[in-house]
Amino acid sequence: MYYPFSWLRSLVKLALYLGVFAIVGWYLDDLLVAVIAGTIGLLMSNYWQLYKLNRWLWHSRKMSPPTVTGVWEHIYEGIYYLQRRNRNKRKELGELVKRFREGSEALPDAAVVVDAKACIIWCNRLARLDLGLKWPTDAGRRVDNLIRHPAFIEYFHTGDFDYPIEVPSPTNPNKTFEYRIMPYGDEHLLLIARDITRVSQLEEMRKDFVANVSHELRTPLTVISGYLEIMDMSNEDNPFMGKAFKEMSAQTLRMQNLIEDLLVLSRIEASAERIYEHVVDMPAMFRQMSLEAKALNKDKHHQIHFHVDPALRVYGVETELRSACSNLVFNAIHYTPPGGEINVYWQTTEEGVRFAVVDNGEGISQNHLARLTERFYRVDKARSRKTGGSGLGLSIVKHVLSHHNSQLDITSTVGEGSTFSFILNHELIAES
Ligand code: ADP
Repeated sequence: MYYPFSWLRSLVKLALYLGVFAIVGWYLDDLLVAVIAGTIGLLMSNYWQLYKLNRWLWHSRKMSPPTVTGVWEHIYEGIYYLQRRNRNKRKELGELVKRFREGSEALPDAAVVVDAKACIIWCNRLARLDLGLKWPTDAGRRVDNLIRHPAFIEYFHTGDFDYPIEVPSPTNPNKTFEYRIMPYGDEHLLLIARDITRVSQLEEMRKDFVANVSHELRTPLTVISGYLEIMDMSNEDNPFMGKAFKEMSAQTLRMQNLIEDLLVLSRIEASAERIYEHVVDMPAMFRQMSLEAKALNKDKHHQIHFHVDPALRVYGVETELRSACSNLVFNAIHYTPPGGEINVYWQTTEEGVRFAVVDNGEGISQNHLARLTERFYRVDKARSRKTGGSGLGLSIVKHVLSHHNSQLDITSTVGEGSTFSFILNHELIAES
């Protein structure tokens, strides 16, 4: 407790104490010696109190202070009060940390807290089970020395944590984990690893199923279309049957196109081909594409112009890039009313190489744009069917571009036309 006039009381006590010695000295006729003796006594008593305080602070196990009187009583009380306050604060903090740890132990994912030097500060029980971390042995060790998968190390060192990555578990290669890193506080990182084995297995099953079904349907369809062609030719005298066979042939062709597109999509999804291994002669590809566009443009009478930089070759997967670019060019031909104008660009810009198809067709309203690259999404189902489209074209483009670290950009105004474009990074430009 704080006493407001304790200094005054101490001063009075000191004066009284020295006063007694002064009276005795005066009585014995040696005032100075008596006052000096009193001062020495006071000094020694204070040293003795200091010694006791030191012993209590550093050697005693007792929390409560020894009983003393005078000015020392206030000092002991003050220290005792501060100690008690600190102890309560420590207790509260301890409780808080305990509750936080209990909460994070209840997390369904592995969690690791890492400091600015990539050293582990703390990890939960699932991190020990799933990531093979040992606690407390691994506290203070670098996380990238303990989780050694190259994909994780690259992800961790790049410092771009916008997207999670999928990596096999360090303890069980049959399990797949999704790692997500979240920076927080003073350069601390929270690493969350989620077991997504089931999801990735289902995704694999889905891909395999689509690829297998498409493959299996290919042969029977080829047989059907072959017979339909023969029967169509031999039925020229019966107009009804002739029309029926024509329609059946057209629908079979549509199914064949659909299956081909599904197979292309499956191949691209499963593609492990490295994009930096082969140089693609894009100008040559566009020369070939302009001939195909001309053939497709026979009834449409569009003006199609290719503005191609003849020296601009890039690293990539040729079949995939051909598929993406031709899909965009042929879509422009299909969805632009006859007599339209289509411009195709392949040129360098500040950000990289830009491919763009600009048409002056009907355009697409804004509410469709975000969903255009979804499988089987069409703006006008009936019209797309007439053009023979499978509804997979833009999905294929999206996957190809994602494989080439790019993305499709669509801008469109109803009644004015559309621009479908993408940019390949400077890194992909091949020296000529
Ligand atoms: P589809 O095989 O039906 O053409 P896509 O995935 O290639 O499928 O295209 C999806 C939809 O996007 C199309 O059905 C069409 O409505 C619209 N679309 C694509 N390109 C254009 C374009 N250049 N102009 C207008 N609409 C387009």
